[in-house]
Amino acid sequence: MKALKCRECGREYPLEATHVCEFDFGPLEVVYDYERIKLSLTRAAIQARPQTMWRYRELLPIATQPTVGFEAGYTPLVKADRLAQRLGIRELWIKNDTVNYPTLSFKDRVVSVALSRARELGFTTVACASTGNLANSVAANAAAAGLKAYVFIPADLEQGKIVNSLVYGAQVIAIKGHYDEVNRLCAEIAGKFGWAFVNVNMRPYYAEGSKSMGFEIAEQLGWRVPQHTVVPIASGSLLTKIHKSYQEFIKLGLVPHAKYKVHGAQATGCSPVSAAHKAGLDFFKPVKPNTIAKSLAIGTPADGFYALKVMKENGGAADDVTDDEIRDAIKLLAETEGIFAETAGGVTVGVAKKLIASGKISTNDSAVLCITGNGLKTLDAVIGHVGQPREIKPSLREFEALLADEAKVSA
Ligand SMILES: *Cc1c(COP(=O)(O)O)cnc(C)c1O
Ligand SMILES: [Zn+2]
Repeated sequence: MKALKCRECGREYPLEATHVCEFDFGPLEVVYDYERIKLSLTRAAIQARPQTMWRYRELLPIATQPTVGFEAGYTPLVKADRLAQRLGIRELWIKNDTVNYPTLSFKDRVVSVALSRARELGFTTVACASTGNLANSVAANAAAAGLKAYVFIPADLEQGKIVNSLVYGAQVIAIKGHYDEVNRLCAEIAGKFGWAFVNVNMRPYYAEGSKSMGFEIAEQLGWRVPQHTVVPIASGSLLTKIHKSYQEFIKLGLVPHAKYKVHGAQATGCSPVSAAHKAGLDFFKPVKPNTIAKSLAIGTPADGFYALKVMKENGGAADDVTDDEIRDAIKLLAETEGIFAETAGGVTVGVAKKLIASGKISTNDSAVLCITGNGLKTLDAVIGHVGQPREIKPSLREFEALLADEAKVSA
């Protein structure tokens, strides 16, 4: 790491817990010394390291060694032949962060980085504004690291997400309002209390953790960048950082130079970025979220502008799907690949299906879908939509009658 740098005016700042430029309020981003990194970060060096996201340590914003979340990342990249057939595309891969460690979502990547950096900067209390998964990951990782945690969430989150924060002993504050109101309050709190808010004052470090998902995809594909990557959008950070990860690997000569498209996926009930992209606009209009995809329900996405820019520059598309389409896509992924994703995964699969059907992703191409969270945490969204178990007495005769019934129905 060399410094923090304003994305708008380019002014540099020291590597502290700060996230906006004092002159134009532009977001600050970590810059690196790539010439130096090139000397140590070779394919061979990476491959000799443990299979976690920290194998790309030189490209992650910590000064020494990680002290939180050593085991995060390096989740499976699954060749999804059965889903590919159903969607009508030649080659399809699932980057499966439903099994990320320790809290089953891609947020374990960003939190590992943010909390490791927070400790380097001397913080003992950490916090976040969350749509659910971030709160789970901050709570768990803070517990394991002996840090005190405050997590702020909208009060109407899924039970699974709430319990998964409470169990670790974090202070869980439920705000009567939607995420954008939670976030606004957290910005005020962060300014007043000396805490490390992972996605407020620690945001430049936090956001960089998302790059590890892109690094892994490229390495696991045999050191190449995929033609298409479909990414769910909440704040838009993950999408911009997957793009940055591919750029960095190309710059460092770790993968061949290649053209690629990064596509954005949203729920129709909260689709400011997708709506702007489809209308050909550079700016989004804030919305009030109303969707079962609560993890993506950010009506004023902090990195929405930059996500739009990435898609425009690389020819990526964006689209959105309804709640019914989200549920259908969750089932499709589960039935074809044996992967139970949360609502955000349904959004990604549903949008990929649309992009393939409309020719925005060519059927002769290869695509990677970023599946970012686990379905066990959003049972509320699918209960009542996946059928019921068939109940019988513990009797062979009843079971045989059931099979006979089934044969009749299918005949
Ligand atoms: C947070 C989150 C995302 C996307 O987050 P960004 O804010 O766009 O980086 C995607 N999927 C899940 C499940 C999430 O929790
Ligand atoms: Zn600036």
